[in-house]
Amino acid sequence: YKQMKSDIEIAREVTLKPVSEIAERLGIRKDLLEPYGHFKAKLPLSIIDKERMKGKKLILVSAISPTPAGEGKTTISIGLSEGLNRIGKQTTVVLREPSLGPVFGIKGGATGGGHAQVVPMEDINLHFTGDFAAIEKANNLLAALIDNNIQNKNGSLGIDPRTVHWKRVMDMNDRALRHIIVGLGGTTSGVPRETGFDITAASEIMAILCLAENFEDLKERIGRIFIGFTLNKKPVYARDLNAQGAMAALLKDAIKPNLVQTLEGNPAIIHGGPFANIAQGTNSVLATKMGLTLSDYVVTEAGFGFDLGAEKFLDIKCVSAGLQPDAAVLVATVRALKYHGGVPLSEINHPDAAAVERGLDNLEKHVENMRKFNVCPVIAINHFADDTDAEINAIQQKCKDLGVKAAVAKVHALGGEGAEELAAIVSEVAEACQSDLKPLYEWEWPVEKKIETIATKIYGAAAIDYTAQAKADLQKIYDLKLDKLPVCIAKTQKSLSDNPKLLGRPENFVVTVREIEIAAGAGFIVPITGNIMRMPGLPEKPAAENIDISSDGIISGLF
Ligand code: ADP
Ligand code: MG
Repeated sequence: YKQMKSDIEIAREVTLKPVSEIAERLGIRKDLLEPYGHFKAKLPLSIIDKERMKGKKLILVSAISPTPAGEGKTTISIGLSEGLNRIGKQTTVVLREPSLGPVFGIKGGATGGGHAQVVPMEDINLHFTGDFAAIEKANNLLAALIDNNIQNKNGSLGIDPRTVHWKRVMDMNDRALRHIIVGLGGTTSGVPRETGFDITAASEIMAILCLAENFEDLKERIGRIFIGFTLNKKPVYARDLNAQGAMAALLKDAIKPNLVQTLEGNPAIIHGGPFANIAQGTNSVLATKMGLTLSDYVVTEAGFGFDLGAEKFLDIKCVSAGLQPDAAVLVATVRALKYHGGVPLSEINHPDAAAVERGLDNLEKHVENMRKFNVCPVIAINHFADDTDAEINAIQQKCKDLGVKAAVAKVHALGGEGAEELAAIVSEVAEACQSDLKPLYEWEWPVEKKIETIATKIYGAAAIDYTAQAKADLQKIYDLKLDKLPVCIAKTQKSLSDNPKLLGRPENFVVTVREIEIAAGAGFIVPITGNIMRMPGLPEKPAAENIDISSDGIISGLF
């Protein structure tokens, strides 16, 4: 087969059902649905019901170490959910919201691809229901309150402007805003200080929204945000500025999960979009719980590879929210495995089963890691048009050797029909699995022990090195009594190690922790290993140049 149509063309050929119909199928009372136009709706938190969540199946989708060749976690999550619905398992796919940065930057959305998409894809990719805008405003309100406090003598907390690390955010790839000076223009225009912008998905507010259980918890977490120090070296938190009430008020609707549909008319809940490198990289806890309340199966995705997103999903989100997956799907592609096996990107389309075999080291390590958490693994081979039988067989043979079930999924080409075998295996594993999540570490442990446990057991590191800055940060964390928080390690997704060039299954490497950031509001600390981009730039030829809208309002060029 040949995939000739673009994602947006495929999406437009489908007649969408009114969102009220999708809600009705989920048994949502009419008066509870909050429609945003015809095809999107907000779901009030009152629907979430612990009792109704019992016995439901949570399926976590992650991947081998991602390569530029692409893995397709979102596409597989959507396709698997269609497949499960086809075999009679009532399923909702629960995903993150896209950020505008990648939409206008490098071609690649977050609404799936081919015949496995969530719709209306134009809306979901552009603004959606305004959640990102609300998060941005809440974030920027705190920034304004901080600068106002530094400006004013009355009510001044004596904040040392040089210690303030809270930045403003905007949902755009705009490298020119990374480092800026605010407060120029004389005494009435603030106190000059160096700061910058992050992209909205990197905001701690995004991480907070995605872990919050309700408004009380949301306010509590916002109040705990660590801002910096006073000139007398006392810590300052957002609650010291009485910021939490107004910030939470701005999030009144953003906290509610969004209901949309898949191309085959099945329910999809899309909510929250934290980065997977400096934050937990998965949709909101509330969206997951909403999905588990309303359907028998929830399929959800954790960003990047299993070592990053899934580790955080299991050690942070699941522990915080009292969730656990009943099966974990590891997405692998022939192309990515060839890349791990040493084939350059330009030759990724040439058949090379030997290279696939060489790359399987990476898959093997991720399967071992899955088992360390006591989650039941399944391999999804995301089929691309150029894949050969010999290459696919190499993966299947390896899976047999590892004792893990695998299925080829042709969801990009065929939608749910291409995922029936995968769906059957996933439901079989999920129903047989005695899910009993074993987090990798206890939150109570010393920070260094938590970091070492993840780095040695999951990444395969031989040792950890701390820079002088990281050691100073550690001391600060102990002084502030924040050492009992879980760790959300910021690491490249390209390698199991902290060196993006080491493909496959690196060994005998040292992980260097360069600094440790505090996200006290979100409720984790962030050891940083390598260069982590919080405000990406646009590429030389941005995808924005291809996007257009016709005189009758039809958008084109979105993937
Ligand atoms: P991830 O969630 O892992 O980042 P996505 O599912 O968003 O990956 O897919 C990344 C890109 O690759 C999308 O543009 C998607 O359409 C494309 N893609 C995914 N699977 C396939 C496939 N089997 N064949 C062709 N393109 C695919
Ligand atoms: Mg994705």
